[in-house]
Amino acid sequence: MSFKKFPVEPFKIKAVEKIKLTTPEEREELLRQVGYNVFALPAEKVFIDLLTDSGTAAMSDRQWSRMIIGDEAYSGSQSFFHFEKVIRQIFGYKHVIPAHQGRAAERLLFEALVKEGTYIANNIHFDTTRANVEIRRGVAVDLSWDEAYDPDSPELFKGNMDVNRLDNFLREKGRERVPCVMITVTNNSAGGQPVSMANIKAVSQVCRKYKVPLYFDACRFAENAYFIRQWEPGYQSKSVLEIAQEMFSYGDGATMSAKKDALVNIGGFVTLNDDSLAEELKNLLIISEGFPTYGGLAGRDLEAIAQGLMEGVDEDYLEYRVGQVNYLAQLLTDAGIPVYKPPGGHAVYVLADRFLAHLPREQYPAWALSVALYREAGIRACEIGGVMFGYRDQQTGKMVFPRLELLRLAIPRRVYTLSHLHYIAEAFACLAQKRETIKGFRIVYQAPYLRHFTAKMEEVS
Ligand SMILES: *Cc1c(COP(=O)(O)O)cnc(C)c1O
Repeated sequence: MSFKKFPVEPFKIKAVEKIKLTTPEEREELLRQVGYNVFALPAEKVFIDLLTDSGTAAMSDRQWSRMIIGDEAYSGSQSFFHFEKVIRQIFGYKHVIPAHQGRAAERLLFEALVKEGTYIANNIHFDTTRANVEIRRGVAVDLSWDEAYDPDSPELFKGNMDVNRLDNFLREKGRERVPCVMITVTNNSAGGQPVSMANIKAVSQVCRKYKVPLYFDACRFAENAYFIRQWEPGYQSKSVLEIAQEMFSYGDGATMSAKKDALVNIGGFVTLNDDSLAEELKNLLIISEGFPTYGGLAGRDLEAIAQGLMEGVDEDYLEYRVGQVNYLAQLLTDAGIPVYKPPGGHAVYVLADRFLAHLPREQYPAWALSVALYREAGIRACEIGGVMFGYRDQQTGKMVFPRLELLRLAIPRRVYTLSHLHYIAEAFACLAQKRETIKGFRIVYQAPYLRHFTAKMEEVS
């Protein structure tokens, strides 16, 4: 279909949810009330919500219909066997253990694997994954290649792990101190960039050489498989499902937040081959999440996940999904807005320090942009920059800022249409006209951990 110049929605709409644009005066007052922190805004006062792609998907008519069928038996629910069958078909591992979301799956796995003084390597740990390693007094090590942090590098598969660094790391630490290696697909903390099949294979070979198990953090495996199909030689005629199956064949298990590529609002799981580890996880599950055939979820949730996983690997859906992200990145680029390139699978990342080059890092340009975007257009996005990751060095007393100062525009799955994307791009074009007038911020209140969620800010005059 060569005439297709934009990602047409491969669905029509059967239920709608009203959204309403507030007035500029209302938004000004709301911003003041919440201390210029968009996390604290009531969601109904947000016109387009790009805060996250997690748990924000629209479910299909088929998913809703499976929810009615959900079997709510305490044990041996039919819905569990459906869930298990679909996950086995895609992932190919023997055991399937449900959990209420991704971080619960991570906690189960790391409670069993991580002891004080052990190390987990990952391309880049997602923040909950890192926290679940560190709370067990393990050390979370990121081994991505440098390209991940370069927003201009034209390389594809910037989510890859650096295989040489992994080899050196495993040689130095030894298998006794590394209970597993993880690979996050797509690499959420590096702009949602995919990992290539060649890289997964190479990582797997190194892990096998040192006899260390390889697990996937599989939240966005379908988007990752779609990129492989688009970009990697030899995969154009394979289905996304076949590509996903091949990816997982190189590992020993996976954790997944179903709130991403399984197209549901809650849920997750661990799936793995190791019998004795699976038994240990099920015992932990019973203490904290529930019986192994529901794991903190209702039977209806298991049905929605099983159905959503199959819809998530549908090529028409993925063409539109990844196409939307790419299309928005193109609209912004055309309007002269600097973005991370190439765009990843689930979000467009605006390079806020370049867009607001008149603001020093100490005045948090990405935060300033998040406020300006809401003020201008009622759009909410997520700062991934100095407020989220900056800290004061105890020795020098100087502020240390992360390498990238980003505003993430995460696209919820199947929620917004093409005209919403145009609205977002127009809002940015408007901001570009008056970028010099956008002011920086200073922190007036911060919590000791994860300060971005609750920080209160003040505009620098
Ligand atoms: C969202 C996410 C998680 C955690 O999942 P939750 O469902 O939010 O608990 C873990 N890893 C990655 C890569 C994620 O994107």
